[in-house]
Amino acid sequence: MRVVVDQDLCSTTGQCVLTLPSTFRQREPDGVAEVCVATVPQALHAAVRLAASQCPVAAIRVIESDAGDDERASANLARSPPEAERHAAKDQHNLG
Ligand code: SF4
Repeated sequence: MRVVVDQDLCSTTGQCVLTLPSTFRQREPDGVAEVCVATVPQALHAAVRLAASQCPVAAIRVIESDAGDDERASANLARSPPEAERHAAKDQHNLG
C-alpha cells in the first residue's frame, strides 16, 4: 500500500500527523502534510485507511497496490475500509 497527500487540498489541520506521526509529517513552514514513507507497513494499513477517511478535506489518497494504480486507488477511497479490503481480496483472487 502507498498513500499520498494532495498538497493543494490539505488544509494543514495536522490531524493525520497526530494520528500517524510515523507516516505523515507537516512540512515547514506552511504546515502542509506530506507522506514520510515510501510504502505503508502492513500493520498500519487499517490506520492509514482510517486517517484518509477522517481527513476533513479528503486530501489523503490510499493506493492499495504497491504498483500504484491511481484509478483503482480512487475507487477504493470511495468505499468504506471493510469494503475496500473485500475488494482488494477479490482483486488478489482474480490476479492469481
Ligand atoms: S488530515 Fe488532511 S487536511 Fe489535515 S493535515 Fe492531514 S492531509 Fe492535511
